[in-house]
Amino acid sequence: MSSLSKLAKQHIGQATCLQIVHPETSSCLKSLLADLVPVALSNFKLFFPILLVRIGMNLKCICDKKIIYDILKHYLNLVISGFVLGFGSITFGCILWKCFGPRNFLTSIFLPCVMISSIYVNLAPEYVLNLASISAFEMVIEILTLMKCDPITKLIIQSKFLQTLLFMACSCYIIKNVLKHKVNMYWFIKPASGLQKEALNEISFEQKEICHRNLCSHNGSCKTYFFDGLKFYGIAGLCLDIVKEIGSSNKVKGLPLHLIKKFKTFDFQTTKFLLFYVGIFRFINCWLNNFHGIENLHRNTTIAAFLSGISYTFFPKFLPLSYGMACCVRIAWTHYKKKSTKSRFQTYIKGINWNKLTVALAIPLAIHLYMYEQKIVGSIGTKFISHTTNQRSLRVRENIKRYLSQFQ
Ligand SMILES: [Zn+2]
Ligand SMILES: [Zn+2]
Repeated sequence: MSSLSKLAKQHIGQATCLQIVHPETSSCLKSLLADLVPVALSNFKLFFPILLVRIGMNLKCICDKKIIYDILKHYLNLVISGFVLGFGSITFGCILWKCFGPRNFLTSIFLPCVMISSIYVNLAPEYVLNLASISAFEMVIEILTLMKCDPITKLIIQSKFLQTLLFMACSCYIIKNVLKHKVNMYWFIKPASGLQKEALNEISFEQKEICHRNLCSHNGSCKTYFFDGLKFYGIAGLCLDIVKEIGSSNKVKGLPLHLIKKFKTFDFQTTKFLLFYVGIFRFINCWLNNFHGIENLHRNTTIAAFLSGISYTFFPKFLPLSYGMACCVRIAWTHYKKKSTKSRFQTYIKGINWNKLTVALAIPLAIHLYMYEQKIVGSIGTKFISHTTNQRSLRVRENIKRYLSQFQ
């Protein structure tokens, strides 16, 4: 444990919210009112890439009013969720401080966050909660990995080769389940569902011969399918890279010029990763379908999903792997839940709403560690925490550091 958290355990109780949360104003209400609009705008910005991805995924039917409504509703729900969590944590922080006076280590940050996230999990729509629980679980995986508390984790974090192997396995497990068990999961690429075996058996030999070109797992020719994938994921990756660059730049004035200058040194991390991932996947999948036959679609897709996972080598961050691991745990849990059992303990475990529990505890834990164990929260956690509060959490973190430095 770092010396900062040791100091916090001893001394944070003597501080006030004026010293830690809002030193710029002596009034809690004034500070909260000043935060209201910037926190809301920051959440609009945080979830904007998700809006872009969803628009990109539905580009062909974007004129459909219902689809536009669903996309905007989904985006707005995410923004509201982030706002409730971010703004609620700051508000509860001040309320607790005002009501209960000097606080201790756990009631300073952790408890207000648990209170707001417990309220939030009961209000959020199911699909937002699903996404939030995967992100929360991902944050926990990142924290556990960065803590490097056991030799296996240490080995994984130091070896890109092992990480790539793990990502390949995750890719294989997730895509197989999306195709075979129709698991609803946000994943980087989607397999084409192809012709069902039963439907295929009904097609006569002559018909198979006639429509041989179409007997892959997708509509149209393999060449079109391959290049459509590159085009779609290339544009999506490019949009995400540009949005990421806009997000990391605080400039608004002269932003286009800044982006043009930056363009020369752009490394297009997401674009490269998505292009390689979808390119390898579609190429191998089509080749296997043509070579071994569409009858082996599941096996072909699984092999292609595993091999295309090698694209992780081109991504410098841990993010796709931690997200992949979180998705795998979620799928495994769904299968476990479906299994019948007579054990009362297992029935009890299955009855727990893990989505709610993960969000209610993991997010406060990540925020608490972000404040007191400043190095062990990964990039996803840091981005989520700082943007949902419009950098207020970053300022609180600095204030805690400054406040505790006088006791060193
Ligand atoms: Zn206050
Ligand atoms: Zn094909």
